[in-house]
Amino acid sequence: MTAALASTPAAHLDATDPLAAFRQEFHLPAGPNGQPCAYFCGNSLGLMPKAARAAAEQEFDSWERLGVEGHFQAPSFWMHYHDTLTEASARLVGALPLEVVVMNNLTVNLHLLLVSFYRPTATRYKILMEGGAFPSDQYAIESQARMHGLDPAEAIVELVPRPGEYTLRTEDIEAKIAELGNSLATVLIGGVNYYTGQAFDMATISRAGHAVGAYVGFDLAHAAGNLALHLHDWDVDFACWCTYKYLNSGPGGTSGVFVHERFAHRPDLVRLAGWWGHDASVRFQMKKGFQPMAGAAGWQLSNAQIFPMAIHRASLALVERAGGMAALRRKSEQLTGRLESHILNLGLPTSQLEIITPADPAQRGCQLSVLVHRRGRELFDFLAAQGIIADWREPNVIRLAPVPLYNSFEDVDRVGGALARFFSEQSAVNS
Ligand SMILES: *Cc1c(COP(=O)(O)O)cnc(C)c1O
Repeated sequence: MTAALASTPAAHLDATDPLAAFRQEFHLPAGPNGQPCAYFCGNSLGLMPKAARAAAEQEFDSWERLGVEGHFQAPSFWMHYHDTLTEASARLVGALPLEVVVMNNLTVNLHLLLVSFYRPTATRYKILMEGGAFPSDQYAIESQARMHGLDPAEAIVELVPRPGEYTLRTEDIEAKIAELGNSLATVLIGGVNYYTGQAFDMATISRAGHAVGAYVGFDLAHAAGNLALHLHDWDVDFACWCTYKYLNSGPGGTSGVFVHERFAHRPDLVRLAGWWGHDASVRFQMKKGFQPMAGAAGWQLSNAQIFPMAIHRASLALVERAGGMAALRRKSEQLTGRLESHILNLGLPTSQLEIITPADPAQRGCQLSVLVHRRGRELFDFLAAQGIIADWREPNVIRLAPVPLYNSFEDVDRVGGALARFFSEQSAVNS
């Protein structure tokens, strides 16, 4: 962030912020003093949009009034409910509508996509992932390797940072892909690493993976709603994301899936099938013989989850009204840059506290991960007592994610002030 922006009073930035009004669209939990908390946990569970309750109510009404006829007569037409999410989801991730579908939950979708895009052979059987990936991704990939009769220790290759570094270098990822060459079946990494907050160069990784004949996919749990994504242009093969983090669609909410256009008309691809993936024009003939829909829709299994999807629809509408990811990202970079300035201005030695998220805005989303070498838990509890909700990741990382839809510059300054107080009290105690 520029020095000018860092020294502009937060009140002024909030007053001139074109997205400031969106804060009113969310319920802010109360802090210990009853005042709204400063919520920095959108990376884990996004806040509740006020529109969510009405969106769910509408479907309760339809169910109450119409029963099964709601599939055809509800104002929202349950039968095709998932289709109403496609256009906005496609814009969100930079995809064609054909390439996107909303369904299931994230880990379920990871498995469904790996069934199609991790097809190990005797010679090409490795799958490349981040070391220390989110546990669900680790377990999903391990179990996929076992499903193919492979030893996970042989099949899975993990990318790890260089000694003394916390994040991966793109050139090291490219080099590892080139080294694995013909043995590499699939690359599957996060769009943004959940722990460090590092955003990966998805275009470069796709190119490198394709150069050796591998499929390339991304788990966008921490990227969707956080970064401006261009999955189609980046030539990504497949991706999926959850909607309850930066997309504010409620705990355990539904999930999105991307499958590149080049696979849209490939009924021969191995996949797990269900009736909702079957050609919709003949679905209700209920006949034998699965014929997948074109595009990502051909990976659906089950009929639409109306309630989580209703909330997701209300949430996506907010993102669209805010001007989409380009507008959100502009504010996001300012919020995160300001938070970073506050932390750096503490002037603490890295032996005490350091930001492990990359300093380059192109290599991060809104989250900053702060490694606190001493008294980290105490700092976390201190923040909580001030009404600042962050999250704690063992052994000693505090994640702080200012979210452009509902966080203000004042929120960021509250964190800055609390950090300064904590460390000045600490130095007073130590002196
Ligand atoms: C949040 C998250 C998950 C959670 O998976 P669910 O199936 O939604 O419970 C999985 N992977 C990553 C990378 C995540 O960040």
